[in-house]
Amino acid sequence: MAGRLVGKVAFITGAARGQGRAHAVRLAEEGADILALDLAGAMPHVPYESATPDELAETATAVEALGRRVLTHQGDVRDLEGMKAFVARGVAEFGRLDVAVANAGICVPAAWDEATPEIFRDTMDINVTGVWNTVMASAPHMVSAGNGGSIILISSAAGKKMQPFMVHYTTSKHAVTGMTRGFAAELGAHGIRVNSVHPGGVATPMGGGDMMGAIRRTWETYPRLAPMGTTFTDPPYTTPDQIANAVAFLASDEASFITSEHLSVDGGTQHF
Ligand code: NAP
Repeated sequence: MAGRLVGKVAFITGAARGQGRAHAVRLAEEGADILALDLAGAMPHVPYESATPDELAETATAVEALGRRVLTHQGDVRDLEGMKAFVARGVAEFGRLDVAVANAGICVPAAWDEATPEIFRDTMDINVTGVWNTVMASAPHMVSAGNGGSIILISSAAGKKMQPFMVHYTTSKHAVTGMTRGFAAELGAHGIRVNSVHPGGVATPMGGGDMMGAIRRTWETYPRLAPMGTTFTDPPYTTPDQIANAVAFLASDEASFITSEHLSVDGGTQHF
């Protein structure tokens, strides 16, 4: 079904590539205009390539090809004032804000005694504070407009269960789950729904570079944990559009009575 978001505006972080780009394209297919933010620059610690400004521009081209308007911004979710300024510019140009998708995140494989204070800090700064910043830059526009809204926080299977050899990542994604409940409660007063989405393995650039090698090296520290993450279905990972379908559903009026929910899209991933 298309056209569920006609006349609406959606703000998406981490939109240069991967799931964030899929959300931008999927919501645009449904009729939304898009505010797309991404760091599109070097990120420390991660074993995969960082996104580029060209990739952010490619997202914009894909949205425009669907006949929708798009504004892009090369910015950091850790910069609350920068995000506020971008969202305010988007609301001024497009007239409203209805949907926010806090998608930007990093993932660094490291056994518990190999993780550094910097890895823990940066993971929490981006995956937790960056998500809080996204809501704080978005919700005031929804509240003042009085049209309600839908805020979707991208957590992970690691936000309900556990990702071995990623204490920092698991901690950050559980925090997002709790944040969903907290914001959902108070923003309910304004008709704003807040839900989290919990992907399992998704084929994105996050899984590229030396990511799989880094994960396998962590397994060697305690092989018993290697089979964790087994799915009920095959293949054991999915495509970004499958996550975007869940985001589009939660953004739409079809989900108008769903808030404070934590929707898994993970093939039944088990972390025993
Ligand atoms: P991705 O391909 O690496 O995309 C993430 C995007 O976020 C990148 O373009 C990245 O840009 C951007 N980003 C990172 N830090 C940022 C910051 N501080 N400010 C602004 N943008 C920033 O990964 P993905 O797979 O699409 O992941 C999207 C979300 O899904 C993440 O929250 C991730 O934790 C979650 N997730 C992924 C999987 C999976 O298997 N892929 C599974 C469960 C959950 P740079 O590269 O320039 O930093």
